[in-house]
Amino acid sequence: MTDAFHPPLRTLMGPGPSDVPPQVLEALGRPTIGHLDPQFVALMDDIKRLLQFVFQTQNELTLPISAPGSAGMEAAFVNLIEPGDTVIVCQNGVFGGRMKENVERCGATAVMVQDAWGEAVSIDKVRAAFAEHNNVKALAFVHAETSTGARSDAQTLAEIARENNALVIMDTVTGLAGIPVEVDAWGIDCAYSGTQKCLSCTPGIAPITFSKKAQDVIANRTTKVQSWFLDMQLIMGYWGGNTKRAYHHTAPVNAMYALHESLRLVEAEGLANSFARHALNHRALVAGLEAMGLSMAVSEDIRLPQLNAVNIPEGVDDAAVRSALLSKFDLEIGAGLGALAGKTWRIGLMGFSSKGVNVRKCLLALETVLNEMGADITSGAAIPAAEAIYANQ
Ligand SMILES: *Cc1c(COP(=O)(O)O)cnc(C)c1O
Repeated sequence: MTDAFHPPLRTLMGPGPSDVPPQVLEALGRPTIGHLDPQFVALMDDIKRLLQFVFQTQNELTLPISAPGSAGMEAAFVNLIEPGDTVIVCQNGVFGGRMKENVERCGATAVMVQDAWGEAVSIDKVRAAFAEHNNVKALAFVHAETSTGARSDAQTLAEIARENNALVIMDTVTGLAGIPVEVDAWGIDCAYSGTQKCLSCTPGIAPITFSKKAQDVIANRTTKVQSWFLDMQLIMGYWGGNTKRAYHHTAPVNAMYALHESLRLVEAEGLANSFARHALNHRALVAGLEAMGLSMAVSEDIRLPQLNAVNIPEGVDDAAVRSALLSKFDLEIGAGLGALAGKTWRIGLMGFSSKGVNVRKCLLALETVLNEMGADITSGAAIPAAEAIYANQ
């Protein structure tokens, strides 16, 4: 017989998953009940309320999809987009490219607005794209580009889409609970997220919300949603409001306990406090990294506090550093993706991972490993620089 699997106790400071609080892990281990049990149905109602709270929306169609963030992305496109539609897709990193894939697999045309990796989506380019194309069904963009650490101006992008009668599809997988996300105030028609980033739940669930306008678009489709599993009309039979809940698929019951607990913790902390905590730990980390002589890859005004892209110093072996951090410090940081592979590290400070002890651990570990590799850095300055931020908070 094979041995039970016991994972090491890592500190997760990559692009997700983030550290999961013990309360959430404990919730996951509670007794499984039926997915139509009246008590589970009551839990579903509370999960919906809490999701409305974190998304800052009154949207009736707000629910967790039983699959990872990528399924949230797919659910947004397959439900709202039909063959022959035109969608303006903004790409400034990995995930905009996946949106393009989704649009094209729906039989629609993706008009691409390209920006350099590490930049925000250009407002001017989006305006120009709308000026050039008629009958645009939707504008799709990534609020918090996890591949680069850049934040885009979701509110202004949504405004432009609304002026052009287009739906707004927003990926806020990494944004949610780390920086303000105001679905109703910004006029977002569909926003989706994932549980393993700033919600600090276990991976595998995708919270999603659709506006009334988006719901009408889905109800008035002329073609069937090509995905049976992600068809909102069918899912609503199970997650829908007042109707009797009917079997669609078996909800991941225990994962829903975990999601509920993680959302409860966000509510208990308060969104404003959570954003302030993410911002503070980000400033301390950046101060420490810069004192060490490292530089950030994204300009200050658009940096995501929860995803810190750092330039890898000349001559330093990217993979060797990450593997030393993992083996010597049980510390995971992320590699660069796509155009930034080998050029940046991505240090996550998401959700429960965003805390002073992690900032200090990461700075000490990185300094130690870089020194061992003979990198040209300043020793002994990082922690005092971070402490100065904490002292002046
Ligand atoms: C992580 C992430 C996804 C995908 O989520 P998975 O849970 O890995 O499927 C999509 N978009 C963004 C911006 C992400 O950071």
